[in-house]
Amino acid sequence: MNIILMGLPGAGKGTQASKIIKKYSIPHISTGDMFRMAIKNGTELGKKAKSYMDAGELVPDEVTVGIVKERLSQSDAKEGFLLDGFPRTVEQAEALNKIMDELDSQIDRTINVEVAEEELMNRLTGRRICEVCGTAYHLVFNPPKQEGICDLDGGKLYQREDDNPETVANRLEVNVRQTAPLLEFYEKQDALVNIDGERDIDEVFEDVDEILQNI
Ligand code: ADP
Ligand code: ADP
Repeated sequence: MNIILMGLPGAGKGTQASKIIKKYSIPHISTGDMFRMAIKNGTELGKKAKSYMDAGELVPDEVTVGIVKERLSQSDAKEGFLLDGFPRTVEQAEALNKIMDELDSQIDRTINVEVAEEELMNRLTGRRICEVCGTAYHLVFNPPKQEGICDLDGGKLYQREDDNPETVANRLEVNVRQTAPLLEFYEKQDALVNIDGERDIDEVFEDVDEILQNI
C-alpha cells in the first residue's frame, strides 16, 4: 500500500505514522526527518535545507522532490510506503504523480488529518522528541512516564529548534496557504479521505486503520 499522510504541522502525522509502520511494516518516509538527519550529518543536503527550516519556510521543491524520488526508488519502498510531510505543494504533488508513473505504481490513499489551527500552536510548542528513536511526546497531551525520558528506549527528550512560537507561527501560515490547493488536487483524484485529528491518539488511529484495511 502506498499512502500519503497529510495535515498541518502538529496535526499528528508523525504520531500516527509510528503506529502505522508498526502494524503494516512499510517504510516511513518523512521529508522533515530526512532533512534533520542531513543537517545532523553535515551533508550538502543539510546545508541546503537548514536556513529554510530555521525560518519555518518550505525547502525549495527541486531539492525536496529530488530526495523523495531517490528514496522511493529504493527497493524497500516497492512493497509500499508511508509518505509523511510530502507533498506540501501542488508542484510536489504533480512531481510525485510523475515519479509514481515512472515506477509503474500509484498512490492508494491520501489521508488528511484535520486539526484546527488554534490547537496546533499548543501541540507544537509542547512537543518533545526522543533523540534516539524520534518518538513524539507532548508535555501535557501525551507525556512520557518519566519526565524528559522516552518510554520506549530511555532516550533523552529534546525540543525541536523550529518548535518555538515565532517559527511555528510562520510554519502554520506557510502551510495553511499551500494546503487548500493541495487538498483540491487530491479531491479531484478521488484518493482523499479526511479524518478528525482532534481526538485521542488511539481514536484517530482507529479511523486510520480502518481506511488502511479497506485498501
Ligand atoms: P506532525 O508530525 O503532524 O507535525 P506530531 O505527530 O509530531 O505531528 O504531533 C505534534 C504534537 O502533538 C506532539 O507533541 C504529539 O505528542 C501531539 N499529538 C499528536 N497527536 C495528538 C492527539 N491526537 N491529541 C493530542 N496531542 C497529539
Ligand atoms: P511539521 O510537520 O511539524 O512541520 P516536518 O518535520 O514535516 O514538520 O517539517 C519540518 C520542516 O522541514 C518544514 O518546516 C520545512 O522547512 C521542511 N520540509 C519538510 N517537508 C517538506 C516538504 N514536503 N517541502 C518543503 N519543505 C519541507
